[in-house]
Amino acid sequence: MGSLHDGHSQLIKAASNIKTNIPGEVLVSIFVNPLQFGPNEDFEDYPRDLQKDYDIAKLSGVTALWAPSKEEVFPKGNSYKWNLKAPPHLTKHLCGPRRKGHFDGVVSVMTRLLTLICPDFLVLGEKDWQQLIILRELIKELRLPIKVRSVATVRDDQGLALSSRNQFLNRYQRTQAHAISYLLGLAREKAHLGIEIDLNKLHLDLEKKGLQVEYIETVDPFSLQPIKPGREICLLATAVHCGKTRLIDHTFLMNRKPIIAIDGPAGAGKSTVTQALAKKLGLIYLDTGAMYRAVTWLIQSREINPEDISEISKALKSLDLVLECSNSGEQSVRINGQDVTKKIRSPKVTAMVSKIATNEAVRQALTTQQQKMGTNGGLVAEGRDIGTAVFPDADVKIFLTATPLERANRRALDLRNQGYKVPDIKEIECQIKERDYIDSTRSISPLVKAQDATELITDGMSIEEVVEALLELFRLKVPEEVWPIYQE
Ligand code: C5P
Repeated sequence: MGSLHDGHSQLIKAASNIKTNIPGEVLVSIFVNPLQFGPNEDFEDYPRDLQKDYDIAKLSGVTALWAPSKEEVFPKGNSYKWNLKAPPHLTKHLCGPRRKGHFDGVVSVMTRLLTLICPDFLVLGEKDWQQLIILRELIKELRLPIKVRSVATVRDDQGLALSSRNQFLNRYQRTQAHAISYLLGLAREKAHLGIEIDLNKLHLDLEKKGLQVEYIETVDPFSLQPIKPGREICLLATAVHCGKTRLIDHTFLMNRKPIIAIDGPAGAGKSTVTQALAKKLGLIYLDTGAMYRAVTWLIQSREINPEDISEISKALKSLDLVLECSNSGEQSVRINGQDVTKKIRSPKVTAMVSKIATNEAVRQALTTQQQKMGTNGGLVAEGRDIGTAVFPDADVKIFLTATPLERANRRALDLRNQGYKVPDIKEIECQIKERDYIDSTRSISPLVKAQDATELITDGMSIEEVVEALLELFRLKVPEEVWPIYQE
């Protein structure tokens, strides 16, 4: 809507930095949309300075600035009959009930702008979080081939979220307004320590600073439905009036770092891409399959009968299983002091591991250890039951798969690279199908796609393409604003 400030400059810079196959161009649209202002809101007074906007956009590296007239966007006037309505579930809370019709105005004008421009990417600030979620949903619903990228809220040096409306604040009000991010920040720190957030107290604290609170709520950041802060990321959002100026701000509450769960059948290429993803995001890589393999190796090396539950339980009692990540992101596995990183990949272990993984005591021991490793979050875990049994509260859940033939071809390549004899491709495909069958029909924690997981079929995709697709899914579930917090 123009009146550009440093927050907008960051959006333009983020757009310029998006890597595309052909050099991209950045277009900034400026349109003060009458539809998104209520009758008593500040449409007439909304700050407009096109020359200044032009200068800022140019300095930030924009290719083109488009400031259409009202007639260009709405050729037949504000003909409401063609306008859209934002879905009620996304407008029921936060700004929705307080700014009736606002998000209808946003989706109506954005549909027009997007269909006129046909961009590859839409870059939006996380400052207007509810708007971001509604626009993502709009693009998904209309199946527009546009990827949405969000940019963390830009703040002044005392934490006030930049907004075009900040220019209405006098010096005194600016000081008052700084209390918003300060108090939200305190709440974030409390949540991080697992301390309960008292919204009534927070409301009072804001009012004590001379701010008139319109709402202060905690919601799920994606469904925008009320939740109590817990292990999953929670949005704490507020709107206040500082004098005549309405300001919104938010923070994300979490008491652990994000967890990404990647499940899928054998040979789907999980290890390679999970490792690469963990490295890109600075998260710990946890290969739970390696743990089942290590226990299988132990059972085989001690010549324990795989049916002998009591002997297996005895071996588990004194189990010392350590997974370590090197600086380059590779994982080594030690069991009872012995390095078995390579040994657990042998065809002998591969042939037995799915059977051992059906054993209840084995699953219980390894699940408990995995959950302990994830107490503080900050990891990308791959396996068969991560999103369903180990970390059902993971922030991002992906079910990574490929057709059995594709997986057999990849397995053959792996075996060749490790210097093993490569059986006929049909034989590998049969073995893979057999492991799929055992894994998905066992009674405890079978391999199934978690109900809230996104399926990614990787046939014909390169490793880089899969990693990029995973990153895209991560971006959808973990706000950019959270990234620096968990990387601390
Ligand atoms: O992923 P990888 O092929 O190394 O896993 C080996 C086996 O370990 C799987 O086929 C499955 O039987 C078992 N597994 C499991 N649950 C996990 C990870 C692996 O049952 N979370």
